[in-house]
Amino acid sequence: MNDLIYALATPVGGAIAVVRLSGTGAKELLHTVFTGRGAPREMAYGRIVNEAGEPLDQAMAAFFPAPRSYTGEDMAELYLHGGQTTVRRVLALLGRHARGARPGEFTERAFLNGKLDLAQAEAVMDLINAGAERSANSALAQLTGRLSERIAAVEAQLLDALSGLEAAIDYPEELEDDVTSALPGVLAAAEAELAALIGAGLSGRVLREGARVALIGRPNAGKSSLLNALAGAERAIVTQFAGTTRDVLEEAVSMDGIPVTLFDTAGIRAADDPVERIGVERARRAAERADLLLLCFDAAAPLSEEDEALLAETAGRSRLAVCCKGDLPALWEAEALSPYGIEAVAVSAETGEGLAALRRAIAARIAPAAESALVTNARHIEALQRAAASVADAEKSAGGTEPELVATDLREALAALGQITGREASADLIERIFSKFCVGK
Ligand code: GDP
Repeated sequence: MNDLIYALATPVGGAIAVVRLSGTGAKELLHTVFTGRGAPREMAYGRIVNEAGEPLDQAMAAFFPAPRSYTGEDMAELYLHGGQTTVRRVLALLGRHARGARPGEFTERAFLNGKLDLAQAEAVMDLINAGAERSANSALAQLTGRLSERIAAVEAQLLDALSGLEAAIDYPEELEDDVTSALPGVLAAAEAELAALIGAGLSGRVLREGARVALIGRPNAGKSSLLNALAGAERAIVTQFAGTTRDVLEEAVSMDGIPVTLFDTAGIRAADDPVERIGVERARRAAERADLLLLCFDAAAPLSEEDEALLAETAGRSRLAVCCKGDLPALWEAEALSPYGIEAVAVSAETGEGLAALRRAIAARIAPAAESALVTNARHIEALQRAAASVADAEKSAGGTEPELVATDLREALAALGQITGREASADLIERIFSKFCVGK
């Protein structure tokens, strides 16, 4: 077992503060600082006392003997009153007997002790950071090992094929026909499964990082007001002077359970003012990277050349038209946009009319496929792509006469998959992943 570590696992300022201990001597330290005694994994009630026997808090605590604990080591958890002074005093007391944990060190130990694979450990962090309902569901699915199971199935197929090939290489005279004849089918199945996981992953990125939705349109169209209405907060500065939104404003919101980052852009148009020009440039970039464009038009002003240019420029992009200021007398109707083949929604930021319909239309455009909940991590998608490329290489080599080439490709595919579950992850990679965790997790 490892050295004894401790950390506060809850944010400062709550009603209750949870402190965790893990490693050699967790039980002894618990009994040193806590007067209560309970059976393993049962809550006990008692006092926290310092070396001089002075009480620091009335608390609950539990002891989790190895290996049935989060880290797989002996662990203890203390449930303190959340007051800052209490927490500080108890942490100081523990600090005299144990080492403060590094970020993610508890989960890292769980991984090293085989309680979780790497994909599951990463899901722990995703779950903590999930900002929208579907993101949380997807992290939870990964935490329960659904991704790991799918990958393990592909690994098993490839390993089977590889061991058959290796036998054929070692004993060419006994080259089994069924090894070579089964190979194309096995490789094709593995490739299809990897392609399915990658496809799901690319649309699943939305669940992790949020869909990027950019509001574009000429100055005064009503973009900032719309952003505020959608975000439900006074975030963008709204004025009646054209060109006042000089920078790109971002707002993270959840739309029907899907995380979305809204970008309000300065009107994309030629600007003379240098400050405004920077804003225009940023707006253009935000629009280029967006998953969905909301083309904002002022329904209370005539449709201008600038508006028509925007419609023409964005043809082919994923986009929705928003006819703003629906509470004012309209100078034109949404049908005017039908020649451009764009879905249009009329809204009023002022009265809130049409906002629900707009949210639904946005969610429908960016909603990932049902299966996408499985892979949302960019690192995993990249590893799957590498594995798929190696399997594709193996398929090409399988037609030839050199089984060694196929075997090499299969080993590479397996190495890539092993990076997802952590079977083949380097110490470096592991350290990098866990350093992004919070302390106490
Ligand atoms: P932007 O330049 O496209 O960001 O446009 P703004 O959101 O700053 O809005 C420009 C002007 O139109 C402001 O005076 C807003 O108060 C007004 N405006 C925006 N949305 C609405 C709306 O739904 N109804 C009405 N009546 N006025 C609006």
